[in-house]
Amino acid sequence: MAHRGGAELKARVRTVVLRLTKAYPRAHCTLDYRNPLELMVATILSAQCTDERVNKVTPALFKKYRSAQDYAAALPAELEKDIRSTGFYRSKAKSIRLACSDIAKKYAGRIPDQLGDLVELHGIGRKTANVILGNAYGIPGMVVDTHVKRLANRLGFTQHKDPVKIEFDLMQLIPKERWTQFSHVLIQHGRRCCTARRPDCPHCPVGKWCPSNGKV
Ligand code: SF4
Repeated sequence: MAHRGGAELKARVRTVVLRLTKAYPRAHCTLDYRNPLELMVATILSAQCTDERVNKVTPALFKKYRSAQDYAAALPAELEKDIRSTGFYRSKAKSIRLACSDIAKKYAGRIPDQLGDLVELHGIGRKTANVILGNAYGIPGMVVDTHVKRLANRLGFTQHKDPVKIEFDLMQLIPKERWTQFSHVLIQHGRRCCTARRPDCPHCPVGKWCPSNGKV
């Protein structure tokens, strides 16, 4: 029975993945960046902040700091001032400076392209590492942000609250080549339809396959 349940879940996941991907064909990373370093910095800034706000701050920031060495050498108070409007600016500035210091020393300024190396950097967790891998390097990465966490639970793809456990559940269920794109698709669905407070179940493209339909 458990085995049959697993097969049914896989079939349902397949349908949901296909339907949602069709519903959001242009889902993509909404942070502006031109290289892995800029993406890493923008992703750190996006914690507890909207991508729109981050995109307002980064043009001037990226003009001022052009390399990992530039961030590593920044005066803490000055970098804090430069990113202040994204919130939590002290800890974000610290993460950027220390991660960039590691990158400058250990990798000659190049952002690593291995998950294990990325998560060793100060202030870089699996979410940021997967954003970098998937978007800057084209290496599949399952990004579990607040939207993905909420939707994976509502859709019954996981029973966990811990982002790392959710990531592993999703990696089991979703084909590897779809990890990056499906993260974007879920994030877009979470912003547009399955919002935290008021999910629009009547108009949801996967309502028929969602165990939480009308129950949130
Ligand atoms: S049916 Fe409702 S709870 Fe389920 S994914 Fe759609 S909007 Fe979210």
